[in-house]
Amino acid sequence: MNREFRADLHCHTTCSDGTFSPAEIIALAKQKGLQGLSITDHDTINAYTEAVPLAQAEDILLLSGVEFSAMHQDISVHILGYSFRLDSSIIRDFCQKHNERRIDRNRVILKLLAAQNIDISEADLHEHPEIKQSIGRPHIALAMVRKGYVVSIQDAFNRYLGDKKACYYPGESFSIEETLDTIHQANGLAMIAHPHLLDNPKILRDLLEMPFDGLEGYYARFNMDQQKRWLKIADHRGWMVTGGSDFHGAIKPSSSLGSSWVDLSLFTPLYERFKANNNLSQ
Ligand code: AMP
Ligand code: ZN
Ligand code: FE
Ligand code: FE
Repeated sequence: MNREFRADLHCHTTCSDGTFSPAEIIALAKQKGLQGLSITDHDTINAYTEAVPLAQAEDILLLSGVEFSAMHQDISVHILGYSFRLDSSIIRDFCQKHNERRIDRNRVILKLLAAQNIDISEADLHEHPEIKQSIGRPHIALAMVRKGYVVSIQDAFNRYLGDKKACYYPGESFSIEETLDTIHQANGLAMIAHPHLLDNPKILRDLLEMPFDGLEGYYARFNMDQQKRWLKIADHRGWMVTGGSDFHGAIKPSSSLGSSWVDLSLFTPLYERFKANNNLSQ
């Protein structure tokens, strides 16, 4: 058997703002022929409870992952964490703090929408009862579409919810330093997610001086020049390279699971560390 090894290290489930449940993601990964996977929900690792036994049954190597939201000088930065212990109380407590921050922030956003005669209640955001964490702007946008206030999720962001729009409220936030420290305390590895979205050169310079372990060098929506640039930056710094599709299901139909991936040579060091941290033998 000499099948090419592919692992998608960036996707979202219904535990954050994806539209596929953890079980559906595992089934889809199998169907796509992926041998490795990491689920990187925003600010939560809840998907792993359901996903771990299913991945095992399907012979998919599932690597611990998360995508944390951080702020640096009023700019939002996404940080991918990998290989940490799944029972780490440090990671779980941090996810809990994020959840509280989101609840407080969403309440303010709903009030700002109400001031514009847009009536969205907290109950409207809980369409999927299994979602208990990481409710955010995409869920608010979806409720606005459902209730006919906007024509699409993008319309909701463009008119009301996007950064600096009338109904956006950032609320409490966590710094990059605090996020890196949390991931490292759980013996995990921290990567700059989709670095091409950091279009501010000063912010990028700052990040490249921080103790990241790597960056996302393979991303479905990069062009070839962008890819070369990020691989070169990682190589220059001796950083690891990760990659994935950032699959969200129907909420962002532009990228499908497995449309971006890493091979065995990039997956192995991450997975070895995950196994050592989680006392797994194979
Ligand atoms: P939140 O974590 O609640 O602040 O929501 C952030 C998510 O909303 C991001 O991960 C994106 O998926 C989405 N998002 C942010 N800004 C925009 C935008 N201008 N247009 C469309 N989606 C956006
Ligand atoms: Zn998302
Ligand atoms: Fe992201
Ligand atoms: Fe993502």
